[in-house]
Amino acid sequence: MNLRRQTRTVRIGSLQIGSTHPIRVQSMTTTNTADAEATAAQIRTLEAAGCELIRVTVPNRESAGSLKRLKQAMTVPLIADIHFDYRMALLAMDAGVDKVRINPGNIGSEERVREVLRAAKQRGVAVRIGVNSGSVEKDLLEKHGLPSPDALAESALRHIRTCQDEQFDQVVVSIKSTDVRTCLEANRRLAEQCDFPLHLGITEAGRPAYGSIKSAVGIGGLLLEGIGDTIRVSLTAPPEQEIPVAFDILKATGARINSPELVACPTCGRIDIDLEKLMAEIEERLAGETLPVRIAVLGCVVNGPGEASEADIGIAGGGGMGILYRGGKAVARVKEKDMVDALLAEIEKIRAERAQAEPAAKS
Ligand code: SF4
Repeated sequence: MNLRRQTRTVRIGSLQIGSTHPIRVQSMTTTNTADAEATAAQIRTLEAAGCELIRVTVPNRESAGSLKRLKQAMTVPLIADIHFDYRMALLAMDAGVDKVRINPGNIGSEERVREVLRAAKQRGVAVRIGVNSGSVEKDLLEKHGLPSPDALAESALRHIRTCQDEQFDQVVVSIKSTDVRTCLEANRRLAEQCDFPLHLGITEAGRPAYGSIKSAVGIGGLLLEGIGDTIRVSLTAPPEQEIPVAFDILKATGARINSPELVACPTCGRIDIDLEKLMAEIEERLAGETLPVRIAVLGCVVNGPGEASEADIGIAGGGGMGILYRGGKAVARVKEKDMVDALLAEIEKIRAERAQAEPAAKS
């Protein structure tokens, strides 16, 4: 169990971000925001996938013109992504967005950043200060020689000071880089020096296969250290594909578990059951299940009791049959075709046991 870094709380519409709240998953639409219909359709797809905050780019007035309609059509908080033109941030806030993301390094001047912060404070809108390798100020690049972790962290801290100067604390901060090591180091340094919630991500992680691994290493590495309050996996793919990857990173790190965890052996010559078929069926039948329960599925009984003892439920192949374990003890021997039904029945028992234990624990 990892300890979360303590942060202050930031309200983003109906959600709160920070160490006393679950780590939230977010993504960004890829449609032209000016096309409200297409963007609303993608927002619906993201919401259905479980996305908890959705960001849209607002590069011009036409895009800002869609925001009111988008806001009305969605249930999760809406974030406006602003580059270069601070006036788009002001228009987005007028349209009712819950948060704006600015990169102070490309907004033009500190005064313009301050103007955005003042407007956000007045309207109760949160702001993400986003720093990346390409936006580090000239003087910091000269001082550090390159956009190093120190340069990135110093840049973010400089912008945080501007927020504090404006007595504005509804701020989430992100430092992103395509280089995993730089991203990890920069966020560690920032985490030590401020108590604002951090948004984690590896930019331009790439196509789903490698991008998911890169994101898991970068985001997951920080989550294991208790750093991170909201995450975005950036993949070159339809954005809804980012959501299960993000939730799997949260699950694998133990940072937030809201679905069953399936542990399975890699199989070998001892295999005594069609494990791949069994896993596919389990995955299919558990789709949408939210009970945090660990299920170990093993190809034979050699490691069955041992492996299953660390899981809530274990299944091991045995002579064409399946052996069901609870807490490492074999509790039933069932036909292979009945395994998944038996597993689901055990899940229901666990659900009932936990529901019964909950009020007892509270009383
Ligand atoms: Fe092989 Fe059995 Fe281990 Fe699976 S559990 S890898 S089948 S020995």
